[in-house]
Amino acid sequence: MPEPDQSVLARREEIIAALRAIVPGEGVITHADSLRAYESDGLTAYRQPPMLAVLPETTAQVAAIMSYCYANRVKIVPRGSGTSLSGGSLPLADGVLLGLSKFNQVLDIDLTNRLVVVQPGVTNLAVTRAVEEFGFYYAPDPSSQIACSIGGNIAENSGGVHCLKYGLTTNNVLGVEFVTIEGEILRIGGRHLDPAGLDLLGVIVGSEGLLGVVTEVTVRILAKPEAARAVLVGFPTIEGAGQCVADVIASGIIPAGMEMMDRPAIHAAEAFVHAGYPLDVEALLIVELDGPEAECAELIGEVERIAIANGAVSVRISQSEQERLTFWAGRKAAFPAVGRLAPDYYCMDGTIPRRRLPEVLERMQALSAHHGLAVANVFHAGDGNLHPLILYDANKPGELDRAEAFGSDILRLCVEVGGVLTGEHGVGVEKRDLMPVMFSEVDLAYQQRLKCAFDPRSLLNPGKVFPTLHRCAELGRAHVHAGQVPFPDIPRF
Ligand SMILES: Cc1cc2nc3c(=O)[nH]c(=O)nc-3n(C[C@H](O)[C@H](O)[C@H](O)COP(=O)(O)OP(=O)(O)OC[C@H]3O[C@@H](n4cnc5c(N)ncnc54)[C@H](O)[C@@H]3O)c2cc1C
Repeated sequence: MPEPDQSVLARREEIIAALRAIVPGEGVITHADSLRAYESDGLTAYRQPPMLAVLPETTAQVAAIMSYCYANRVKIVPRGSGTSLSGGSLPLADGVLLGLSKFNQVLDIDLTNRLVVVQPGVTNLAVTRAVEEFGFYYAPDPSSQIACSIGGNIAENSGGVHCLKYGLTTNNVLGVEFVTIEGEILRIGGRHLDPAGLDLLGVIVGSEGLLGVVTEVTVRILAKPEAARAVLVGFPTIEGAGQCVADVIASGIIPAGMEMMDRPAIHAAEAFVHAGYPLDVEALLIVELDGPEAECAELIGEVERIAIANGAVSVRISQSEQERLTFWAGRKAAFPAVGRLAPDYYCMDGTIPRRRLPEVLERMQALSAHHGLAVANVFHAGDGNLHPLILYDANKPGELDRAEAFGSDILRLCVEVGGVLTGEHGVGVEKRDLMPVMFSEVDLAYQQRLKCAFDPRSLLNPGKVFPTLHRCAELGRAHVHAGQVPFPDIPRF
């Protein structure tokens, strides 16, 4: 991470006083014990309490905080619920942690336009809860949906089981209110489709808190399908399961969800949730079909036929809504369940072309032997999005380093076979140094020029995403007059 700026730390009391003037009452947190609550996110291997935390309640307060920090060159790390698995909301020792947890209101439910307007601190699941009585739901469903915020979902372009059919966050957001580092309030997109001009909404979704702070969100909602049924299919080989996934997609069926678990993950999930998973198989697929009842029944028959043709040894079709939810309960709890196999686990996130799955899993086993650490696998199989969970013990010297080296080899492998570094968890701190594996110098320079257009002083979430932070002047964003760089004191790391 960037070295803390001692000149900013020396001004801590002055900064606290200025922020207290903007957010009165208990909205500015400064005590070391209270700041511990923010020292980490879902990537718990990294910890760093912030210089201070501020919890604004209005967009005007956010704008005033940003404007003050811009003028006084103070770094800001936005934070929703702190469940990022890539260290996206890891604080900085010399930075302000800007928590959005008080932005927790559902502002408008507009059924006519099939949308909901919410504040960014509202949890993902709360959006569905707000509209389910009217027969609607919000489709992107990260496993962390009970806790993660919509603002965090936007920043990470989060996905979930149902994104295979209904798209990621980016496909379900219609508009945002957005505060720039200079304190300007923008409205991008809105209640309508296809806004005019350049697609700034597309730039903001997935920008990992590097471009500004989202203070209001408009999301699309969908009518609940008439029926949803899930099929649980066991395979004696990973190859058979992988081929079944490819054949289902190639047949023209787009399931509402298609998830795979390998043997260690199946056993861990079954011991945790008792979902009735078969224990004598190497791979388990959960395939969900939704739509009108008759279409569901037809497609389930087709999936069953494809599964048996690929060597499935067990096929169970959910007979009730309760049974369908039980099938999913094991998958949704797979991460905490795997957490019972070892003191610590490191959750990776990479994406590969679906047809390379058997080869990637075989090479992952070789890497597991090489690094001396076990791995359990959970995938969004339909999307080719892998979540290898590397098991380690942080108390054993060197094991975290080995887990990180193993994880980095897995991500290099994903890129080597034609995939990408992340499927849904973002780059953050975790994959920052691997960006050059995927992108050329020129690619990275163009991405950073975009960052400079929004944040010329590099104050928003620095140390994340980009392996080296160039001065914006070097990238042509800032005007250099007579050899004088405008911001000579911007740190490089
Ligand atoms: C058990 C578990 C399961 C998970 N399963 C999934 C999954 O299935 N799919 C998936 O995609 N992810 C998953 N995640 C990862 C995580 O939940 C998502 O990335 C989520 O979107 C993060 O939301 P958050 O509110 O916790 O954001 P935070 O962790 O607080 O922040 C994440 C990033 O968003 C930025 N940010 C937050 N709020 C704002 C805002 N209002 N404006 C601008 N920037 C902001 C932060 O600066 C940071 O860069 C899982 C995490 C856990 C712990």
